[in-house]
Amino acid sequence: MNVIIMGPPGAGKGTQSKRLEEKYDIKQLSTGEMLRAEIESKSALGREVESIMDRGELVPDELIIALIESRMSHSDCKNGVIFDGFPRTVAQAEALDEMLESHGRTLDAVIALSVDEAKLVDRLHTRIAETQAAGGAVRSDDNEDTLRRRLEEYHDKTAPISRYYADRNMLQTVDGMQPIAAVESAIAAILDRARAA
Ligand code: ADP
Repeated sequence: MNVIIMGPPGAGKGTQSKRLEEKYDIKQLSTGEMLRAEIESKSALGREVESIMDRGELVPDELIIALIESRMSHSDCKNGVIFDGFPRTVAQAEALDEMLESHGRTLDAVIALSVDEAKLVDRLHTRIAETQAAGGAVRSDDNEDTLRRRLEEYHDKTAPISRYYADRNMLQTVDGMQPIAAVESAIAAILDRARAA
């Protein structure tokens, strides 16, 4: 089963993807996490994307597409993938269609988490506080200025892909403002239907 989880920054894509990973035994591919690992390891790619991410802008399509393409062929993706944070542009959505086809796979569901954007700043502060309480490092793009830029990028470049999937009758929206467990059940109901189809 191959699934896309989309939504603005702070919508809960990562939280839900991790839960689905266990429940359906499919692999979460978070492009944000993959890029942060590249930065951490000081790779050439990491050096290239670090300042772009710190500004809250999208990294170039060709870098992301190459990253996903190489990752998808790993054996841990053979049962399926939850795409978290990808695709983020129409060009990436088109590239994903081609990749899936060349791997003989299909896309089973596209889930958009809808949120009240006025609440995203509160969620950001909660995430920072929780990370610090757990002794972890706060993401360098988790601050209010960068969040605003990430939201602009989302509206300019990512929101249009809802249309791309709606036109293909793939898009299903889940209210991301519900408690985490309720969001999870709503997504699971969609995936169970997709799996039975
Ligand atoms: P969030 O959804 O909370 O903004 P992510 O961890 O998904 O966080 O992404 C963090 C940053 O990584 C983005 O702001 C962007 O710079 C970069 N990024 C992640 N995925 C993509 C993508 N598919 N295309 C372009 N840039 C991406």
